[in-house]
Amino acid sequence: MAVGEIGYDSMTPAEDTALAAQLQLAADHGLPALVHTPHRDKLAGLRRTLDVVRESALPTDRVLVDHLNETTVKEAKDSGAWLGFSVYPDTKMDEERMVALLRAYGPSRSW
Ligand SMILES: [Zn+2]
Repeated sequence: MAVGEIGYDSMTPAEDTALAAQLQLAADHGLPALVHTPHRDKLAGLRRTLDVVRESALPTDRVLVDHLNETTVKEAKDSGAWLGFSVYPDTKMDEERMVALLRAYGPSRSW
C-alpha cells in the first residue's frame, strides 16, 4: 500500500542513507511514502526531509509528511506534499490546536 513510516529521528548520516534508499524503494514500486518528521528540532527535520524527497525519484505529491504542527505546516503545504497530523492530547498536538490549523490552512491534502 505504501512505504513507511520512514523518516528521520536524530537526523544522522545513516538516516540520510536509509531515507534515500526507502524513497527509492517507493519510487521503484510505484508506491507513496509516509514520512515521519522528528519530534526534536522539527522544522530542521522537515527541511532536511523535503531536501531528500526533492533529490529522490519519488514526486513530492506522493509523500505524506506526518506529525506536522504550527512550526512546520506552512513549509510542508508549500512543498506540495500531503500533510499528516497526529493528535496526541496533552503532548504533541491537541484537538484545539488541530482545529486552529485546519481553519488557518484548510483541510485540503490533510490527514
Ligand atoms: Zn512517526
